[in-house]
Amino acid sequence: MSDDDSTTFHLACHCGTHRYPLSVPLSALPLFAWTCSCTTCRHVTGAPFITSASVPGLSDLFPAFTPPDFKGLPDTLIAYGSRPQGRRISCTKCGTPLTNVYWDDDGNAHWVAPLGALIVGDLTPEKVYNIGIHFWVGATGDGGMIRWIPHGGVNWATWPHMGIFDIPKEIGKPKPHQNALGDDVLSFSCKCKGVQFEILRPSAKPDGPGVKEMAPLPSKWHANHCFCNDCRLWLGHLLPSAVSVGREHIRWVDDATLKVYQSSPGMKRMFCGNCGAKVGTSCDENGWISLSVGLIDIDGEEEDGKENEGIAGLLKDWTEWGEEFSFGEEASDMRLRDEVRKGMAKDGFIKGA
Ligand SMILES: [Zn+2]
Ligand SMILES: [Zn+2]
Ligand SMILES: [Zn+2]
Repeated sequence: MSDDDSTTFHLACHCGTHRYPLSVPLSALPLFAWTCSCTTCRHVTGAPFITSASVPGLSDLFPAFTPPDFKGLPDTLIAYGSRPQGRRISCTKCGTPLTNVYWDDDGNAHWVAPLGALIVGDLTPEKVYNIGIHFWVGATGDGGMIRWIPHGGVNWATWPHMGIFDIPKEIGKPKPHQNALGDDVLSFSCKCKGVQFEILRPSAKPDGPGVKEMAPLPSKWHANHCFCNDCRLWLGHLLPSAVSVGREHIRWVDDATLKVYQSSPGMKRMFCGNCGAKVGTSCDENGWISLSVGLIDIDGEEEDGKENEGIAGLLKDWTEWGEEFSFGEEASDMRLRDEVRKGMAKDGFIKGA
C-alpha cells in the first residue's frame, strides 16, 4: 500500500508511557464508531458514555496478549475483565484506556479503541469517524447525556442491542438518596467497587472548603464538561464531565484501589488502579475535587432501564452547569460540543446561545 492510500494514527495514553502508531487505510475511513451508556462502560471509565471505534491494526499492538489464553501483558498495562471473555486495557501509571478486546470460544478477538485516546493528526472528526449507534441508552433511565446528542450523524438509539429505546421527553425524577446516617447523598462507585464515595449537598457544611467557589446554590454543586486535550486524552473518551465538590463534602466509603497520577505540578488525577475508572481531578491549592459523573450510582441501574430513575434527572437535582464549557474552543469534535450545548439548553441545564 502506498503512503497515499493510508494515514497514521497514534493510540496514546496521557503520561506518555504508551504511544503506538496505527497505519489506517483511507478506505477504512470514516471509522464506524458508537457510544455506550451501559452501567459497565460508565463505571469502568467515569465517562458519561463511552465513544469507541473499530480501528484496523489494533490486534497487532500487544503481541504477547493473544489467543488462546489472553495472558502476557506487560506490567505497564492493567487488564480488567468486565466480562469473562473480554478485557479493558489501560495504562498502569495514568489510567488512560487503550483498547478493549472481546473474544469468542475459538479465540477470535474483536479489538476496539477509545476515540479520546486516538491521535488523528490534521484529519477532521468528520473524516475520521461516524458515530452510528448509541448502545444501551436505556441503562440511563432517561437517556442521560445521550439526550443531548441524538443527531449529528447518529442513526438510532438502542436498548438492548438492536431494539429502539425511545428517549423520554422529560428527564427522570430522582428518588431521595439517604445514607445510613440519614444524610441526603449522591453516591459514586467504580466498576470493581474498589473506589466508592458519597457526596453531601453544599448546605450540609456551608462553611466548608470549596463551597464559596463551587456551590452556586445551597443544594447544588457546579458541574461542567472539559474539552481540553488533557482531559480528553486521560479519560480516553470524547466528553469528560465532572461535578466539583468541596473536599469536606466527600465521604470516602472505600479507596482501596485508588491511585493518584500526578499529571503536572500540583495537579492530581485519580483513578482506580484495578478497573481503570477515572475518579476525578484536583489541584492542591483548591478546596474542591472534580469528580467524574460517569461514576454516579443511579437507582435501578443494574435492572431494566424502565425502572431506572434517570441520570439527567439526578444531575439536574444535584448540579448547576456553567454557561461556558471549559476549553470549549479546544474541542476535538465541534459537532459533539455544539449538539451537547443545544441539548442542554433544551433540557434547561443552561440558557444556551
Ligand atoms: Zn500512561
Ligand atoms: Zn457498554
Ligand atoms: Zn475499580
